[in-house]
This record gives sequence, structure tokens and C-alpha cells, in this order.
Amino acid sequence: MRAKIVAGNWKMNKNLAETGVLLSELKTKLKESPDAKIIVAPTFTNLYYAFEELKGFDIDVAAQNMHQAENGAFTGEISASMLKSIGVETVILGHSERRAYFGETDELLEEKVKTALKHDMNVIFCFGEELEDRKSDNHFNVVESQLKNALFKLDNEAWKNIVLAYEPVWAIGTGETASPEQAQEMHAFIRKTIADAFDTKIAEDVSILYGGSVKPANAKEIFAKPDVDGGLIGGAALDPESFAAIASSF
Ligand code: PGA
Repeated sequence: MRAKIVAGNWKMNKNLAETGVLLSELKTKLKESPDAKIIVAPTFTNLYYAFEELKGFDIDVAAQNMHQAENGAFTGEISASMLKSIGVETVILGHSERRAYFGETDELLEEKVKTALKHDMNVIFCFGEELEDRKSDNHFNVVESQLKNALFKLDNEAWKNIVLAYEPVWAIGTGETASPEQAQEMHAFIRKTIADAFDTKIAEDVSILYGGSVKPANAKEIFAKPDVDGGLIGGAALDPESFAAIASSF
């Protein structure tokens, strides 16, 4: 049985004090035995604080990005070992905002994934097509090549540390969600793509999250689809009530 996961990507939101408030509200609002693994991804400056605050709670902390190098002259960057040293075991890589605003390519992401795995970190790998790709009926090709370019050289063993997050760019922060049918169709395609490139067991075991305007009102329907194993939540993760409702939408 593959893991159900609900992860909150806080993006560049919440200063230290606000992070404290959101974490304490989450601690009270999230169910004690959640139906899914719960992850929150605050910004770098609040990661250690979040990790400390959440000790003893069933909520994991993830980083939103990291650099592919071990260390060195990379001003402003954060390495895998820095994250590990403060207790952070999971990193989100390949978010469409990183791809669009910070020029992250499939090739760079392949490097980042490799480094994260070398440090035995868990990776939430994000990918998804843009609106034009879907309009031109090219969305399956785009998704397949994103997966192929960044992940297909992994060895089978690596997949136990990978979670996939399909996030159609046109649905992120737009209020427009993929329909549950569109999500299921793509998730099934992703699973088949992994099965063809690796093997059926790896494809069956990998959790595939959907991301893009998930809200309490649509989470249940999306999560009910057989190949959707949870969600990567942006906007709604900043509201503890909404995030808790989404987290119990299985
Ligand atoms: P959204 O963001 O839920 O605000 O659409 C999702 C994401 O960017 O991971």
C-alpha cells in the first residue's frame, strides 16, 4: 500500500512569528491520527524552528528547494547536508515556480535529485504542463519528458525516496483545478510511464500527489481517484482550518 500524503508548500509566506501561530494552530486542528502523512514546508529561515516545534507531532518538515552542490562558493544557497543537520529529511524539487522564475531545467533537477538521494533525503518531485501544452494536446508528452529527463537514470532502489507531485501549471494559484477525471487520467499515465521505464512494483508503490488549487471543497473528489495519493497544497496550506480539512479528505 503506497503512502497517502498531504504536503503544505508555504512558499515565501510567514515570518517567524507567523510561522509560530500557524504551527500551533495546525497542532490543534490536525487529527491526532491523520489519515495521511502530513508535511509542511516553511521557508528556509523557519525550518529549524518548525522542526523543533513539531517534535513529537505527526507532522514532517520539508524544505522548498536546495542546491545540488555539496558546499562551496554559491552565495545565498542551501545544501543537502545543511538541511539534514537541522533534522530536515525531505525536500521539494522542481516546483513550477522554481522552473519559471529561477530557470531550473530538467537537467539541473536531475542533479538536485541525485544530491538529495545521496544524502538519503526524500524528494517530492514536482512537474506538470503549462496551459498551452494542454490546449495543444501535448500535455502527456511534456510530462513524460519532464520525468524522463530528471528521473529515468535513477536506479530502482532510489524510488523508495521519491514522491511525485503532478502540478499542472495552469492550476497553480489560479483557482482553476484540474477536474478529478483530468487528474486521474494524468496520474494513471504517470504510473504507466514509470512502470514502462522501471517496473510495475515501483510504479504501484510510488505516491503521486496532485497539486493546483486544492481546497477543502474539491479535495475529497480528487483524492478519491485511484491513482491520486494526496496533494501538494499551496494557498490553502496557509489557512490551518482549510489544511486540516484537506488532510482529512480521504
Ligand atoms: P496552490 O499551489 O494550491 O496555491 O494552487 C500549489 C503549489 O504550488 O504547490
